[in-house]
Amino acid sequence: MSIYHDEVEIEDMEYDEETETYFYPCPCGDRFQISKEDLENGEETATCPSCSLLVKVIYDKENFMKNEKKSLNCSKSENSVKVP
Ligand SMILES: [Zn+2]
Repeated sequence: MSIYHDEVEIEDMEYDEETETYFYPCPCGDRFQISKEDLENGEETATCPSCSLLVKVIYDKENFMKNEKKSLNCSKSENSVKVP
């Protein structure tokens, strides 16, 4: 069982495009972090590498899943192109 230090909305987190990771300041001085890929997989726990605290990330999972559906649609249309 995980005990969360806090709950944080995704809008309040800082996004790093290079690493595709969301950050949020931890009281220990380091930062909680969770990757975009984790969020797409339904993960909602951001961890701090320097201490054992956890935060629960509040986000709209449908927004992330919509992105996945979009890419599925793209591959679908690619397949239909192959069909004569
Ligand atoms: Zn920490």
